Amino acid sequence: MALEIYNTLTRKKELFTPLEPGYVGIYVCGPTVYSDVHLGNCRTFISFDVIYRYLKYLGYKVRYVRNITDAGHLEGDRDEGDDKFSKMARREKLEPMEIVQRYTLGFREVMQLLNTLPPTIEPTATGHISEQIEMTQQIIANGYAYEKEGTIYFDVEKYDKEKTYGILTNRKLEDLLEGTRELGGQEEKKGRLDFALWIKAKPEHLMQWPSPWGMGFPGWHIECSAMSNKYLGKRFDLHGGGMDLAATHHTNEIAQNEACFNESPAQIWMHTNMLTVNGTRMSKSLGNGFLPHELFTGNHPLLEQGYSPMTTKFFMLQTQYRSTLDFSNEALQASEKGLKRLWDAYTVLQKLTYTADTIDSELEEKVLKLVNGFEECMNDDFNTAKVLANMFELVPVINSIKDGLIKVSAITETTFTLLQEKMKVFLEDVFGLQQATEEGSGKLANVMELLIDIRKEAKAKKDFATSDKIRNQLTAMGIVVKDEKDGSVSWSA
Ligand code: AMP
Ligand code: ZN
Repeated sequence: MALEIYNTLTRKKELFTPLEPGYVGIYVCGPTVYSDVHLGNCRTFISFDVIYRYLKYLGYKVRYVRNITDAGHLEGDRDEGDDKFSKMARREKLEPMEIVQRYTLGFREVMQLLNTLPPTIEPTATGHISEQIEMTQQIIANGYAYEKEGTIYFDVEKYDKEKTYGILTNRKLEDLLEGTRELGGQEEKKGRLDFALWIKAKPEHLMQWPSPWGMGFPGWHIECSAMSNKYLGKRFDLHGGGMDLAATHHTNEIAQNEACFNESPAQIWMHTNMLTVNGTRMSKSLGNGFLPHELFTGNHPLLEQGYSPMTTKFFMLQTQYRSTLDFSNEALQASEKGLKRLWDAYTVLQKLTYTADTIDSELEEKVLKLVNGFEECMNDDFNTAKVLANMFELVPVINSIKDGLIKVSAITETTFTLLQEKMKVFLEDVFGLQQATEEGSGKLANVMELLIDIRKEAKAKKDFATSDKIRNQLTAMGIVVKDEKDGSVSWSA
C-alpha cells in the first residue's frame, strides 16, 4: 500500500504524490517563543518529527521548514491585544530578543531531550521582514488589501467574491461573519473578518521596522506565507500545524498566497489533534499547560511521579496524530510500563542468533504479517498507534523464544532478520525512541550514585550553585533527578 495522508482541505485521505518525484517539501508552523513550550506543543512537533523521519525512511529527500515566531504574534488571533514579546519583555525588564533567545534555546533543548531531529531550515520571522513587506505590497497591488493609518488589512469580503475564504475548514463567509464579534480598537477595518498584514507601531512599541507605510511590525499570518514561499516555493507538498491553527492562521495563509500569487500554497494540509487535560485543550492562555520539565522531574502538584522524555514520547505515539489524547497519571504510568516491556523484548531480540530447524508455518505467517504491517500502518496516514500494537503482539513471541518455549528456528531466517531489522528501524529511526544499553546502564548507575552523593554533600554545605548545576546538566542530558518525599533521591534516564 502506498502512502495515504488525510488532507484537511479535501476532508479525505489522499494518495501522496510529491510534486517533484523523490522530493518532499514540508512547512510546519513552529513555536511562538515568548514562553516555554508545553506538552501540547510538543505533541504536534513530535508528530511532525515522526512524519519527517518516515518520509526519509521511504527514501524521499525532505526539506523540512519549521519557523520560529519571534515577532508579531499578538495576544488575540485576530490582531487584538498586545504583542506577546513586548509584553513579556516589559514584564521581565529584558530586551525582546533576550526573551526570544531564552525560549528558543529552551525549545531546542526540549526537542533534543525528546530526541526529535532539527528541521532542515528553521527561519525566524524577524529575519524575513523584507519578504513580508514585499508580499504585503503585492497583495495591495493585486487589490486585496488596503491601508488605514499605517496598518494594512486584508480585505476578506472582496477576496471571498472571487475565491472561497473558508475553504480549509469548509465554512461559508456568512456563517463566519455571523460568528465573529466586533472587536474594540479596530474601527478602521472595513470588514469584521479583515486581518492585519502589517501593523502600525506606537512609538513605545519595542520591536518595529521601517516600511512603505511607516514604522510597524508584521502580522503573524503573513510570516508563514513569506517563509514557506521563500524556502519551498509557491506550491509545495505538505503544510502542517495543530488543529487550532486551521480556522484562522492557516485559512489566512491560504488567502494571502492566493491573493499574492493566485495559487494555493500546499497540496495537503495536515493537522494534529490536541493534547487535552480532563478533556480541555492544553494551552498557554488557559494556564493548564504542563511543561516538559515538570513532567520529566515530576515537579507538579498534579503529578504522582516523573516520566522520562522517552516515556512521554511513547505515550504520545500510542495515539494516532489525528485523535485527541488526554493527559493523565494513569495513562503515563501505563506508557512507562508498556515502553519497558517493549524495549526489554527488543533488547532480547537484538541479541538472539538464528539457528535453522523446522519451520512453524502458522507462526511464520503471523510474524511476517505483523512486521510487514509496520509500513502498512504508517502508510495509512502515519498510524503510529497501530505499529506499536503490532509490536506488542510480537512481544510474547520474542519472549517465548527467549524462554525456550518457541525455537528461534520456527520462523525462517529471512523473517527473523526482517523482524530484527524492522524493529530497530521503526523504534529507533522512525519513532526516534532510545534507551541506554544494558552494559551502559550498569556503569551509568555507578556514575549516578557518585553524582547524587556529591550533590547531597553540596546541599549540606549550602553550595546550591553546585547542586543545581548537577541537576540541571543531568536534565539537559535527558537524565531526570528527583528528590523523593522520604529524603531519598531517584533518577531516570
Ligand atoms: P504556539 O507556540 O502556541 O504557536 O503553538 C505551537 C504549535 O503547537 C502549533 O502548531 C499549535 O497548533 C500546537 N498546539 C498548541 N496547543 C496544542 C495542544 N494542546 N495539543 C497539540 N498541539 C498544540
Ligand atoms: Zn504558521
